[in-house]
Amino acid sequence: MNFDTKILHSYPVVDLETGAASIPKYQSSTFHQKNFPEKQEYTYTRFGNPTVDAAEKAVAALEDAKYGVSFSSGMAAITASLLLLSAGDHLVLGENIYGGTFQLLTELLSRFEITYTFVDERNPLAWKQAICPNTKMFYLETPSNPLLTVTNIQEVCKIAKANNLLTVCDNTFMTPYYQHPLTLGADIVIHSATKFLGGHSDLVMGFAVTNSVVLKEKLYKNQKIIGSIPGIEEAWLLLRGLKTLTVRMKQASQNALILAEKLLTLPDVKAVHYPGLENHPDYSQHFQQASNGGAVLSFELKTEQQVQRLFQQVKIPIVAVSLGGVESILSYPWTMSHACMSEEDRLKAAVTPNLVRLSCGIEDVDDLWLDIQLALEGGENEEN
Ligand SMILES: *Cc1c(COP(=O)(O)O)cnc(C)c1O
Repeated sequence: MNFDTKILHSYPVVDLETGAASIPKYQSSTFHQKNFPEKQEYTYTRFGNPTVDAAEKAVAALEDAKYGVSFSSGMAAITASLLLLSAGDHLVLGENIYGGTFQLLTELLSRFEITYTFVDERNPLAWKQAICPNTKMFYLETPSNPLLTVTNIQEVCKIAKANNLLTVCDNTFMTPYYQHPLTLGADIVIHSATKFLGGHSDLVMGFAVTNSVVLKEKLYKNQKIIGSIPGIEEAWLLLRGLKTLTVRMKQASQNALILAEKLLTLPDVKAVHYPGLENHPDYSQHFQQASNGGAVLSFELKTEQQVQRLFQQVKIPIVAVSLGGVESILSYPWTMSHACMSEEDRLKAAVTPNLVRLSCGIEDVDDLWLDIQLALEGGENEEN
């Protein structure tokens, strides 16, 4: 079955009880146990809920995974996965990691004697060399945020396997439409469903998917004990948003490629970071493991004044934290996604005050380009 069909038919899309064409919101915290003390499937929503189950099956199906576990946010999914580690364990991760993941490690897990090494994610050898006797996990995110550097998933997972390490891969930017880390060797795939999977900037939710029954059980246990389950409304919205993932991704990533190419031609633009551009240093590696450059790009302007002018004058993209919505979203990593890092760490990660991130929406690309171009040139753009 092709992905465009899978997305509508490869998981429970119809309510088994009633035939309803939309899985109902089972908005209930608890379930009557008619035949108590006999066991029944649903007893309490923190332990399981039919709407949430459907969402888990959906995301698992799209990742070609056996199991999906859902969470109250992407960060909750990442937390439950990193809590597979114990005190004394070490993990290796790319230096261009999502700001929240960085903070989770450096400010919270570090207090519980979990240690880590950041490496140049593009260099598989660096991952290998960072392995210590107590290393238990590699944590990948590709392409990275916000510079869109690429990690060789297959090679890094191979090194992990040879050393008996777990690999966790954040696939938020690519979505299962464009990239399948599990088939490339990852043990767990993470999603912030807040982004492209939901797609409408109206929910916060996360997933961890896996083919391992042991890992699935452990992730469920963490989710249940921590209580980081998603809301029922969110699970329902996710199911609704997911059905249009392919059409949204096609349009948004087509817009991203066109805008990336056009931005390159502007004299005020110092650099464009987009793995769909042939001049991106990781272009060939990216296309060995993914089928598209995706919908997110970032670019560097020459001065902070230009950045300010862009944010003040742009009319179509919303100026916001987040990405992956149907509307274009312009973000400023320096004070938004990476604000939790020290200035020094941000600069080390090449997140400078001149860097802008654009998550392309599904608007008309000519309108988007005209808007951005006018805002950058700082001229004509009349007030609303
Ligand atoms: C947004 C994001 C997260 C965190 O997800 P939340 O749903 O905001 O908790 C993790 N990883 C990546 C790559 C993200 O973009």
